[in-house]
Amino acid sequence: MTSIIDLDHVTFSYGDTVAVRDVSLSVEAGEFLGLVGPNGSGKTTLLHLMLGLHAPDEGTVELFGQPVEAFDDGGRIGYVSQKATSRGGAMPVTVRECVTMGRFAHAGHGRLTDADRATVADAIETVGIGDLADRLVTELSGGQKQRAYIARALASDADLLALDEPTVGVDAESRDAFYALLDDLNDDGITIVLIEHDIGVVTDRASRIACINTELYHHGDTESFVESDALAEAYGATGQVLHHHH
Ligand code: ADP
Ligand code: MG
Repeated sequence: MTSIIDLDHVTFSYGDTVAVRDVSLSVEAGEFLGLVGPNGSGKTTLLHLMLGLHAPDEGTVELFGQPVEAFDDGGRIGYVSQKATSRGGAMPVTVRECVTMGRFAHAGHGRLTDADRATVADAIETVGIGDLADRLVTELSGGQKQRAYIARALASDADLLALDEPTVGVDAESRDAFYALLDDLNDDGITIVLIEHDIGVVTDRASRIACINTELYHHGDTESFVESDALAEAYGATGQVLHHHH
């Protein structure tokens, strides 16, 4: 198998706060990795390290087989940050314009061909918001915005989707539909790394789980995670409530 992301003994601190300590793990092409852990356990930081948004203090990160600091093919990655759906001050662009921005990585000097426009239209249809293409992104609900951002990633031909708690603030029905969409995309071969606070959702969907609380408590297939004590151990020190929705 080909590693899309490879972390080797990675440590990262914010000043005196160690957020990620000595984590080694890899994400293989086509897998669906669920990243779980209590609040403040380093999930967002770890995702940022994976994508080269933070440089590790110790250890190394490879992205698509290259040292992450040398990686420059951002179009291969669709990243939706933790605050993406709730952020108010977005640019007043339509869904179609937003998704078109994802396509510019492939269009020389910003000139879009008919084929680029067709790719944009396809991406918008794929995520099920064709009827919203001419609406402003700022007018969409959280779940619809999430879909627009995924469409933008698809239009850029991303083969890795990195999602940080994408359904916070999204109603249950839209959330289920959104996760069904992720399943379809994963079936089509897109690699997914998903941070999700609802453990039940992740264990239903992901093929492998990484469970962290600063250090890695578990990394392996979902079944062995469910059977292990990793979850209780990782959450144990924090006293946070676990949410099982089944
Ligand atoms: P999670 O996503 O699991 O909630 P984070 O990666 O956001 O965790 O945070 C991990 C730890 O790092 C926490 O203790 C948090 O307070 C701290 N932290 C996160 N971002 C910053 C920052 N920009 N500056 C200082 N500390 C931070
Ligand atoms: Mg976070």
